[in-house]
Amino acid sequence: MTMTTTRFAPSPTGFLHVGGARTALYCYLYAKRYHGQFLLRIEDTDLERSTPEAVQAIFDGMAWLGLHSDVAPVFQTQRFDRYQAYIDRMLANGQAYQCFCTKERLEHMREQQMQHKEKPRYDGHCRHRNTTNEGNMPYVVRFKNPEHGDVVFDDIILGEIRISNHELDDLIIARSDGSPTYNFTVVVDDIEMAVTHVIRGNDHINNTPRQINMMRALGYTPPLYAHVPMILGQDGKKLSKRHGAESVMDYEREGYLPEALLNYLVRLGWSHGDQEIFSLDDMIQAFDLSKVSKSPAIFNVEKLQWLNQHYIKSLPMDRVVKALQKQFEYLGIDVSHGPALSDIVVVMKDRCKTLKEMAESSRYWFEPVNAYDHTAVAKFVTSDTSRVLSLVAEKLQELHEWAPQPIHQVLQAVVADSELKFPQVAQPLRIALTGNVQSPSLDVTLSLFSQEEALRRIMASIVVIANGC
Ligand code: GLU
Repeated sequence: MTMTTTRFAPSPTGFLHVGGARTALYCYLYAKRYHGQFLLRIEDTDLERSTPEAVQAIFDGMAWLGLHSDVAPVFQTQRFDRYQAYIDRMLANGQAYQCFCTKERLEHMREQQMQHKEKPRYDGHCRHRNTTNEGNMPYVVRFKNPEHGDVVFDDIILGEIRISNHELDDLIIARSDGSPTYNFTVVVDDIEMAVTHVIRGNDHINNTPRQINMMRALGYTPPLYAHVPMILGQDGKKLSKRHGAESVMDYEREGYLPEALLNYLVRLGWSHGDQEIFSLDDMIQAFDLSKVSKSPAIFNVEKLQWLNQHYIKSLPMDRVVKALQKQFEYLGIDVSHGPALSDIVVVMKDRCKTLKEMAESSRYWFEPVNAYDHTAVAKFVTSDTSRVLSLVAEKLQELHEWAPQPIHQVLQAVVADSELKFPQVAQPLRIALTGNVQSPSLDVTLSLFSQEEALRRIMASIVVIANGC
């Protein structure tokens, strides 16, 4: 039995975007579900647009998502001799021919066709001419597309697709400089990599009948095809930078976990009952190409955030800590002194949808407070604040056990003794500790500072208040 083999075949002309990542994921899942192999092919024959940075960006994105290719990636630029061998064979077998038509002739032909309201297509001039290359004229190589009949294939997602061969002209498979063209290299590689299922964006659907004809001419049974619909932004337009992050690694930078993005992407255009949460193993068990929706999917960042928070709360702590640490690095914050990051995660996980947000809203535990928020000060600092803060400091200093519970008791006692409401004590204290009034419960916030640091901050704020803020 043939092994299920899928491939993800990006052109390295930019970063790995979410649409590409979803295609890669579907390819990966389908291969794994049937115990087959998932391959990565870098389609880098467009030398002007392909860059080593883009290749690296694809590798980085795939590695971050954990979508590992089962064998070393294939680079098309390393396979020109293979493509040439196929071209030579097709010329020798009469399945392809040299075309000497000049640019002028082709342009004239096209103009005529346009005038007659016909679809521009090569008229087969050289196919029927039996020309030999006497004067060393430049030529391209064209594939002899069948002249009659239809190309029919059963797309796993879209159903039966039928294209008349009259619609297809003789495709150029080698340019005048000898370089092979895109549709041809795909065919050779899909044959040589023994691909059984081509899963790709539906922007390639017009290429498929041509590729099938070439496959058949070469004596191979075409693979099965699944064309995945586009991803659109909320405004119904093709997803792009305008809608926010577009590259997979932008999501890493924005504080998303790969598990969340994968879970989000698998559900984007595919469903399995009403299940929303899928580990990679769940996805492999449940994924089914025939259940992928025919219509475009709409990208919804709130749902991605919801999933991200779910994974922040449920993944093993060391995974979350590692990702959080990275976010602090991006912010240039040294976390070697201060509370353990696992404590931060415990305290902040219900309050944050991304790890970037978590790092940003926890920075005061690691950095000195350089300024107090004006609005918060105006609202909560009064002529009595210095006295209250001094009282709190005095009591906190006496504590032998620095933990939320005893800290809480101290705060309650101060509130009771001074006949104030809790916020009248709590908010100035928050301002002293964090510079603002957003933080988890005060006992917990305090407990994540060392006792010395907490007291130092309270005393410093008393001095500032005494000097008129
Ligand atoms: N290289 C093509 C792209 O990046 C994909 C071709 C294919 O999957 O057949 O869109």
